[in-house]
Amino acid sequence: MTRPWTWKLTALLALVLGFSSCGRQEERKPVATEKKLKIVTTVAPITSIVENVAGDKAEVAGVIPEGINSHTFEPIPSDSKLLSAADLIIFNGLDLETPTLKLAQANLKQGATIYTLGDKTIKEGEYVFDFSFPKEQGHPNPHLWLNPEYAMRYATLVRDELVRLDPKNKDAYEQNAGQLLKKIEALDQAIKDAVQTIPPNNRRLLTYHDSWPYFARRYGFQVIGAVQPSDFADPSPKEVMRLIDQIRKEKVTAVFGSEVFPSPVLEQIAKEGKSRYIDKLRDDELPGKPGDPQHSYVGMMIDNMTIMFEALGGSAEALRKVDPAPVAGAHADYRRKN
Ligand SMILES: [Zn+2]
Repeated sequence: MTRPWTWKLTALLALVLGFSSCGRQEERKPVATEKKLKIVTTVAPITSIVENVAGDKAEVAGVIPEGINSHTFEPIPSDSKLLSAADLIIFNGLDLETPTLKLAQANLKQGATIYTLGDKTIKEGEYVFDFSFPKEQGHPNPHLWLNPEYAMRYATLVRDELVRLDPKNKDAYEQNAGQLLKKIEALDQAIKDAVQTIPPNNRRLLTYHDSWPYFARRYGFQVIGAVQPSDFADPSPKEVMRLIDQIRKEKVTAVFGSEVFPSPVLEQIAKEGKSRYIDKLRDDELPGKPGDPQHSYVGMMIDNMTIMFEALGGSAEALRKVDPAPVAGAHADYRRKN
């Protein structure tokens, strides 16, 4: 008997509550900040560092699809949608992603931030200008992240910027960053230990893609050449002859190509120079796929060092105890095509 009455009351209550909650929503518009911070990054190793620090507290997407040549990447008009929705856009900088930076600037949401890491990590006097990045062209070698010391600096810069823009998640960002820094420190120590197993005379690098000078500086390697010219084309026949000569003369144990840049020319150079050709190094593509433990910045470095050190006559044993998995799980969108 009481049922219709109860039902009516419930309906009335719902109506009243509905109205009042509508009213409240209007009043408390600024609470939109409860939404997750939207972060857009560029290359996969940086996306990974940001993913580690942010965990599930922010949305992270890398605008440069993983496995694409980041140096020549041109964003397509639809990428402007992703960039214009971001609260924070994080670049390596040092002229790595110029077309994407221009598109980001043109489409920046009001109040959003563009943040570059490279120029805040080292001073101008420490920039390397070399084979594919000659001084006369004015673009420094941008591959700072392949030096774990600089990757740690990237992680602290990202942490501080996330805390500044999203203070309510300060504790999570600081805790995640702390764990990531510990992992990269362990990686750094393991690399130092593993380098000791490589005969000193073999600690020389001849690569196709010019991504190792900052790494070399930290661990006592010498980059004796990078085959890829500054316009990312193939080397000239004269340069090919010179490189074969150099490999023979200096008895270079192995030459390294890159997964992103298959190079039949370098393979030929290695063959003529009687050196081994290894084409598996990566500077901006992570091993495995999102969700795999090795799909991370640390995983990419372990992979690179294992390939490089074993080819140069050393052991990568020390690296096996480093855990590559992202500290707070896999959350970022890497825009992988496969
Ligand atoms: Zn590169």
